[in-house]
Amino acid sequence: MVKDTTYYDTLGVAPSVDDNDLKKAYKKLAMKWHPDKHGGSDEAKTKFQEISAAFEILSEPDKRAAYDQYGKEGLEQGGGMGGGMNAEDIFSQFFGGGGGGGFGGMFGGGGGMGGMRQQGPKQARTIHHVHKVSLEDIYRGKVSKLALQKSVICPKCEGRGGKEGAVKTCQGCNGAGLKTMMRQMGPMIQRFQTVCPDCNGEGETIRDKDKCKQCLGKKTIIERKVLHVHVDRGVQTGTKLNFAGEGDQMPGVAPGDVQFEIEQKPHTRFQRKGDDLFYHAEIDLLTALAGGAIYVEHLDERWLTVEIMPGEMISPGEVKVIRGQGMPSYRHHDFGNLYIQFEVKFPERINGPNDAEGYPTAMTQQQIKALESVLPPRQPQNIPPADAMTEDYSLEKVDPMQEGGRARGALGEDDEEGMGAGGERVQCASQ
Ligand SMILES: [Zn+2]
Ligand SMILES: [Zn+2]
Repeated sequence: MVKDTTYYDTLGVAPSVDDNDLKKAYKKLAMKWHPDKHGGSDEAKTKFQEISAAFEILSEPDKRAAYDQYGKEGLEQGGGMGGGMNAEDIFSQFFGGGGGGGFGGMFGGGGGMGGMRQQGPKQARTIHHVHKVSLEDIYRGKVSKLALQKSVICPKCEGRGGKEGAVKTCQGCNGAGLKTMMRQMGPMIQRFQTVCPDCNGEGETIRDKDKCKQCLGKKTIIERKVLHVHVDRGVQTGTKLNFAGEGDQMPGVAPGDVQFEIEQKPHTRFQRKGDDLFYHAEIDLLTALAGGAIYVEHLDERWLTVEIMPGEMISPGEVKVIRGQGMPSYRHHDFGNLYIQFEVKFPERINGPNDAEGYPTAMTQQQIKALESVLPPRQPQNIPPADAMTEDYSLEKVDPMQEGGRARGALGEDDEEGMGAGGERVQCASQ
């Protein structure tokens, strides 16, 4: 009987799950909720953290035993996330690790737990941040000043936590930070490790009066740091900018990194695909046939006047291009193209005799002749054979309130996707 099933529920497994199925469940969920797959959305990040935290506990036999017996309280104090391991580390060790190395190595960063260490110098965790940038800023390039809160080694005690000589190795655990405990459960004696209660897993103790006044014995303090992030012209979503050593500091390990990931915000006028921009323009029938101009507001406050030549005959859905008016290419002195897809709006009425409600009744013979003089002759489709029986009909208007949905549905309405060629669709996590 386990005390609390939260971690099992998070991974969608029963408390009786074996190691193999536990790994499978974690792997499936971690792949599903990896923040990279969700454009860094906050929901995915939270899920991913929860999945990783649950797996970190349940995959370690000692921790799992303590959790089963005492619930989360059996693990508190330094056990959870943020104490050293982070979800991304668990993930990369699981999926990126050298293979065949067994499971113990997964918790190499876990502050002296487990025993099997990853090779290489220990480093404080990387701070990840998704930096959302407007398309205008990517077009022109900019430097963003981003402030972050990070832990730095306390300058007053230089990371000792107290006066020199005042920091003592913990008597309770001999500095290991962990204690092996025994519990009798009926006829069985259960042995498990728990975080040392005397030192909260620190492995050392400082008397209250000797604690550093600035960091209160924590060895680090929180500092605000402003980083200048260069958003280069034409940078793509997903580009990662690394600031080595600018992340958290912890005594005895290398400082962590800060990593910014560029994410372009969706734009109201343009969609972007690589270096190309896609724009949707609606023109009237007269402009499509007889020419005119459209105006496109660009990303740097310029307005492009785009002339449609008389007789250019833009058809509905047609795509035209203006070369070199797309995005600047990243680190090249070059530009992509601006593709314009036209929608041709047919007139709702014509100039001519109208009925009492103002709707057109018919074209005049003169108007018909004028159209016939410029347009190609009628080309009737699907002509019946000469000996076929034919019946005459005229068309009625469809009442959009009554039948509109039905009529459109039957004919398969065009979906309003805009650029069929596929502009970039950025998931917008509101911030
Ligand atoms: Zn201090
Ligand atoms: Zn201790």
